[in-house]
Amino acid sequence: MSEMKIQCNRLDRGFELYKKEFENKAIEVLESGWYVLGKELESFEQEFSDYLGAEYCAGVASGLDALVLAFRSLGIGEDDEVIVQGNTYIASVMGITINRATPVFVEPDSYYNIDVGKIEEKITAKTKAILVVHLYGQAADMTQVMEVAKKYDLMVVEDCAQSHGAMWNGKMTGIIGDVGCFSFYPTKNLGAFGDGGAIVTKHKDIDKKVRMLRNYGSEKKYYNKVVGVNSRLDEIQAGMLRVRLNHLQELIKERKSICTRYLKEIDNEKLKLPIVREQASTVWHQFVVRCKEREALIQYLNAEGIATMIHYPIPPHLSEAYQYLGKKVGDMPITEQYANEVLSLPLYNGMKKEELDYVIEKINGFRC
Ligand SMILES: *Cc1c(COP(=O)(O)O)cnc(C)c1O
Repeated sequence: MSEMKIQCNRLDRGFELYKKEFENKAIEVLESGWYVLGKELESFEQEFSDYLGAEYCAGVASGLDALVLAFRSLGIGEDDEVIVQGNTYIASVMGITINRATPVFVEPDSYYNIDVGKIEEKITAKTKAILVVHLYGQAADMTQVMEVAKKYDLMVVEDCAQSHGAMWNGKMTGIIGDVGCFSFYPTKNLGAFGDGGAIVTKHKDIDKKVRMLRNYGSEKKYYNKVVGVNSRLDEIQAGMLRVRLNHLQELIKERKSICTRYLKEIDNEKLKLPIVREQASTVWHQFVVRCKEREALIQYLNAEGIATMIHYPIPPHLSEAYQYLGKKVGDMPITEQYANEVLSLPLYNGMKKEELDYVIEKINGFRC
């Protein structure tokens, strides 16, 4: 019976969708003889700014680099604290700690975003910024975040690695706070065919600093002002991203229609389905359910040929990398509960109707 094999993600399908365009662009760049910091990157930065309504955009080598350089150019470092939600991908936190600043964790709300009502109690004299993660593709409550930030004179950085095109109150994520950080890792909604990232901002001086830092701390070739890094979005990736960006709205639409079916047709009281907040839009980076009997569900789906993933099994505060923060199990009950119960269902552009039918049917047949 269970002949179907369904992976959690299918990047090959995303390539197939616009195969000819990707191929043509790759050849064009290869033949151009110019591979780093050239016209593809300039065009992509312009087109991505236009798409978001951002004033400035600078490509970098990854989402992590975007975060690291964002905090560095905001002057955040040793002795500073940055508030961040507990249930994020560890790269969000590394963006803070690579700059030697301290992450201060806040529990998430029922939309998996930062629980804004719990930010104020964590603010100290050392707090410099709030890092908001629009996790799984849904925008956090930016109205309230910006109010708290204003009241305490804090900077706001948005981690948009999962939220390209998601909006809060009709405004794109990434352009509401001071700086927006994007990743173009292949699995992201706007994915390259390798690593990539970008920093968008409304502050001219931040953009200038980022451009200097990403290129060995130089504005003018061989005149180095500070010790920078090598973090550049190369011409091939920029070209691939221009192709994908052209189709981003239809890619988001497809993800929405898949997830609308999941929401309507999954009917199993063992699963808690995701909810979308009023005023927020989600681009469905992941379709995340919660299940108390997660291990049994994973095993059952596996036996039916359906792969799933956990985003993320170990919250940053309990990760070995952050032992030095001295946190222990029980410190963040909601974050930890989510880590124990969340499960991401198969979701990818180019998902076939019969694949979706099959996943829904099997999920509805889960008993334990
Ligand atoms: C993917 C991701 C990052 C890191 O991006 P990379 O390009 O892989 O470095 C940061 N934050 C979140 C929320 C992510 O999902």
